[in-house]
Amino acid sequence: MPTMDSQGGAAAVSPAMSGPSLNQAVSMPRRILILGGTGEARRLAARLAGEKKLYPIVSLAGRTENPAQMPVPVRVGGFGGIDGLRAYLTAERIAAVIDATHPYAAQMSRHAAAACAAEGVPLLALRRQPWKPVAGDRWREVEGVPGALAALGETPRRVFLALGRNEVRAFEAAPWHAYLVRSVDPVEPPLAVPYADYVVARGPFTAEGDLELLRGHRIAVIVAKNSGGPATYGKMEAARALGLEVILLRRPAVPQVPAVETVEEVAHWLETVKAPDA
Ligand code: NAP
Repeated sequence: MPTMDSQGGAAAVSPAMSGPSLNQAVSMPRRILILGGTGEARRLAARLAGEKKLYPIVSLAGRTENPAQMPVPVRVGGFGGIDGLRAYLTAERIAAVIDATHPYAAQMSRHAAAACAAEGVPLLALRRQPWKPVAGDRWREVEGVPGALAALGETPRRVFLALGRNEVRAFEAAPWHAYLVRSVDPVEPPLAVPYADYVVARGPFTAEGDLELLRGHRIAVIVAKNSGGPATYGKMEAARALGLEVILLRRPAVPQVPAVETVEEVAHWLETVKAPDA
């Protein structure tokens, strides 16, 4: 699908979004905004793509250079804060918003809650439960990247950074560790540290593959987010098998809005949503 970038600016509409005429909204499919960036958002888009009564649009922040293909129209880039999102909801006659963002994309979730409340647009969150530790796990929860840096300590260690490429740069502050960085896009420029290896890969990842990766790089400790879901759980299983410590960034607080855990629940909920003029 064609897309258009609008990082940090006003909402952009991709050519593909010219679909239903905005003047005929009553009889036209209801326009659903899916705030994406996750596998759930992709699966939801695929689930809704064939629904004649719906016109789903996926919104991406634009964090990855080559986002996965979507079977529905996509817009890319920030809306311009709460006011920008409010303007977008009105201009695009959005009938409902599904917040299917990453659990750590809390600002977008807060903006969605505020904008939808202000415009009277129904909002539903599609949220993954966090992983829960089981016997054999050695997890330590910390506050953000500064907490992770403090937890790593001052003795050199071999560290697997399973974080976004924008977050790993902060680890330059602890150059005595040896880092293995896995990210969807290359870390450019490389980290200004003496020891760093890079793996460019997009999930899902298996426990077997991650076991091999951790063993191959003689990793002693992992820094990760508690993303939930199966796609990136492999490293947690691998860490358990190897008895490794996992430093987990605590999940940020997200607004209290109606939430479900499955794509089917979203599809069911959407049946109850009316068009803006209905
Ligand atoms: P964020 O802090 O919640 O959002 C920052 C700004 O990015 C938002 O205010 C919004 O800009 C824009 N934005 C975020 N998601 C958007 C979307 N789906 N569509 C349009 N604009 C969007 O999120 P983040 O900075 O992307 O990431 C925060 C954490 O989440 C990081 O740890 C990151 O690794 C993780 N994460 C994010 C994504 C993702 O796709 N965003 C995916 C995986 C992991 P405006 O205020 O201008 O509207």
